[in-house]
Amino acid sequence: MMAFVRETRALSEVQGRLGWDQETMMPRGAAAQRAEEMAAMESVLHARRSDPRLADWLAEAVPEDDVQEAQIRQIRRDLDQATKVPAALSAELARVTSLSQGIWAEARDSNDFNAFAPTLEKVVALRREEAEALADGGDPYDALLDLYEPGATAGQLDEMFGALRPRLVALRDRIIGSERRAPVMECGVPEDVQMTLTAEAAAAFGYDMTRGRIDRSVHPFSSGSGLDVRITTRISPDAPLESIYSTIHEVGHAAYEQQVDPAYLLTPLGGGASMGVHESQSRLCENQLGRSAAFTSWLFGRLEDLSGTGGLADARAFYAAANRVAPGHIRTEADEVHYNLHILMRFDLERELIAGRLAVTDLPEAWNSRFARDFGLEVHSDAQGVLQDVHWSLGLFGYFPTYTLGNVYAGCLHAAMRRDLPDLDEALAAGSAAPATEWLAEKVRRHGGLYAPRDLIERATGALVSEEPLLAYLEEKFGALYGV
Ligand code: ZN
Repeated sequence: MMAFVRETRALSEVQGRLGWDQETMMPRGAAAQRAEEMAAMESVLHARRSDPRLADWLAEAVPEDDVQEAQIRQIRRDLDQATKVPAALSAELARVTSLSQGIWAEARDSNDFNAFAPTLEKVVALRREEAEALADGGDPYDALLDLYEPGATAGQLDEMFGALRPRLVALRDRIIGSERRAPVMECGVPEDVQMTLTAEAAAAFGYDMTRGRIDRSVHPFSSGSGLDVRITTRISPDAPLESIYSTIHEVGHAAYEQQVDPAYLLTPLGGGASMGVHESQSRLCENQLGRSAAFTSWLFGRLEDLSGTGGLADARAFYAAANRVAPGHIRTEADEVHYNLHILMRFDLERELIAGRLAVTDLPEAWNSRFARDFGLEVHSDAQGVLQDVHWSLGLFGYFPTYTLGNVYAGCLHAAMRRDLPDLDEALAAGSAAPATEWLAEKVRRHGGLYAPRDLIERATGALVSEEPLLAYLEEKFGALYGV
């Protein structure tokens, strides 16, 4: 059974590399052929994932230790998911979501939700059908959430998010009301300097370039596992901090995959524990460590050496600029205080969609009124509102909340890490996050998919998962920055 499962994983890595190629290297004219190549891989993989022999092997399997038990549990889970959903529905979903991404992109470019609405209606209907098949009489939204965050339920997240919201809003309101304004970095960091800093930041956060590489793409991402984990970045001369911090973010994902126990290579345990745990690794590196006063002081020094500091007087001003809080329409550009408010509204809206309580045609209105309530800003166009994210066009319902869950996990891990590593800031100020990445490798990353996400975080921190450490960190950091 394990030989068969490993071969399936290997093929799925090949499929992933085709996806990487498509975003980085593929000639533009190859798109139609690539779609056929991807569809062919998908049908081979689907047949292997639902192969009837798996059920027989599972029935005979006798685990000898915890690792084997976890492998068997994962194989059973994958088989369960692959067989619950009728093949025709899977195929239809794959077909519709591959087309809808293009339709979404055009609708966003022309700022026209109505051009996308009929397609989104189809995607929602198909995903609901799939969710009902997966849920087996349970809650459909929970069944989707479980695909990305095993064991999590909407009820549990609702409680956590309900505790986050009022304190985030109160903190944001104090900051907006503060007299203090953060400086803005003026542009002027040349492309080659950005690439140099990007490579240095990747090394600082433990990315092993002998088993990885950095290329460019329109949207930064990481892909792969084990011995081949690649990331991409985006260089924009006008926003030099963006390339550095999006690189650190992707390195958090990639180093996680690289540091999984090599014994799990190409097995069901050979990747991250969940999307939430994955996001905790990227956000912790990007924010708690990468935007710390210690690390930004090193970064400021490098900018001084290489190209100049964009008009910022000193390391203190650079730290404030890297942590500037301002309300805005776009999730991916949001600061640490606003970010989770973007997620919370998506979580509420997508649950209504999947439950059938909100019609797709009413979505822009629901979005805009909720946005005005949560952010105090009017939404003037669908492109800066309901059309901004790719997720729903791909049918990714149940995915958004893992971002905030990741931030909550990052808060827990960061608090525990600081307790264990009292001298961490000295290393960060010298341009190295090594003590932190070694701590993460030992406590979280090497375990791969061995433990359930919550168990993993609780083992690593010695405390129950809670939103409290994240809130305390945000209130302390931004309270000091803005004098509130
Ligand atoms: Zn991420």
